[in-house]
Amino acid sequence: MLYKEYGKTGKKLSVIGFGGMRFAKRGDDYDLDYNAEMMHQASRMGINYFDTAPLYYCDARSEEFFGQAFKNMPNEYYVSTKSNYKDGGELRRQLEQSLRRMDIPKINFFHIWCIMSLEDYRERLAKGGAYEAALKAKEEGLIDHIVASTHCNGEEIEIIANEGRIEGLTVGYNVLNAPYRQRGLDAAYKNNMGIVTMNPLSGGLIPKNPDKFRFICKDDQESVVDAALKFNAVQKEITVVLAGMDSLESVVQNAAVGNGKLDVPEETITAIKTRENKLLDQLCTGCQYCMPCPQGVEISKHMDTYNLKLLEDPGHKGVIEWYWGLKNSHAADCTACGICETKCTQHLNIIERLEEVSVW
Ligand code: SF4
Ligand code: SF4
Repeated sequence: MLYKEYGKTGKKLSVIGFGGMRFAKRGDDYDLDYNAEMMHQASRMGINYFDTAPLYYCDARSEEFFGQAFKNMPNEYYVSTKSNYKDGGELRRQLEQSLRRMDIPKINFFHIWCIMSLEDYRERLAKGGAYEAALKAKEEGLIDHIVASTHCNGEEIEIIANEGRIEGLTVGYNVLNAPYRQRGLDAAYKNNMGIVTMNPLSGGLIPKNPDKFRFICKDDQESVVDAALKFNAVQKEITVVLAGMDSLESVVQNAAVGNGKLDVPEETITAIKTRENKLLDQLCTGCQYCMPCPQGVEISKHMDTYNLKLLEDPGHKGVIEWYWGLKNSHAADCTACGICETKCTQHLNIIERLEEVSVW
């Protein structure tokens, strides 16, 4: 496994990290032993960065599953969790809950979670707010490092990085949105901060469309999943690539990338970063940060079907019904208030797309 220094923390992290947001039910319920075995297998294969959050999918039980696995991890590990509260008291309560749920004495990488804009960032720094509470917890030894996760664009990330209050950042970064965030990554690296990247497969879009994304593979033998993970892992600015694990097989496949050769042709990196492939610029990543809509429009589901139009799937018009159980006409409930567009991490013209979708 390749290990990289996480900024100035003195910690060396595995280039592939365990993303704890995709635990799946096995039969009618979650299997805690199986989930623990996934994490143990990851640890045996060299992964030492384990990322969770209080509210991840899997019925918000990810921290509980982590706690089960942590009872007997085979190797040294670092844990990352988060709080999205702006109020310091609320953050403290959530931090203590995370410690209890995982039954551990401290969090190695504690994230000020999901900063959506510079205004949001400033609110977290306000007196009595999230950052102040995290600092106090750090002084008390409950946190090793205060970091943040953000969906800001590259320019905003650059401002946050240059302020130097936090030791590292977790950002969504993949072959689709790389140019949108690159400037922020460059600034963070220059400031000697750690960078963890999430969503490397763009919400599953890349593995679902292997033919369209074949251009990122070095040859016919390489899978698009491996190629997408390698694209992130090979970059000097990036410390860890978080891969969502939902089975033992996925653990083995993802960990193998960090244990193998990171051979990404230079021309592939250039093609992706310069958007030679125009398709990349226009796709919804399924991150759902545009939700909820005050009118109840299922924005990300409609945008997902719009992706299929862009990917030239002839069946795109029918997908909303057979796959999502909705109707294209539901998109007409949009009143064009614009809230979702201000939150869209891809800066998509959602309103225009919904208008088009509503008459399919
Ligand atoms: S612009 Fe339309 S879809 Fe977006 S939040 Fe407003 S009503 Fe909902
Ligand atoms: S429309 Fe934008 S915010 Fe919403 S899911 Fe797609 S990329 Fe994410």
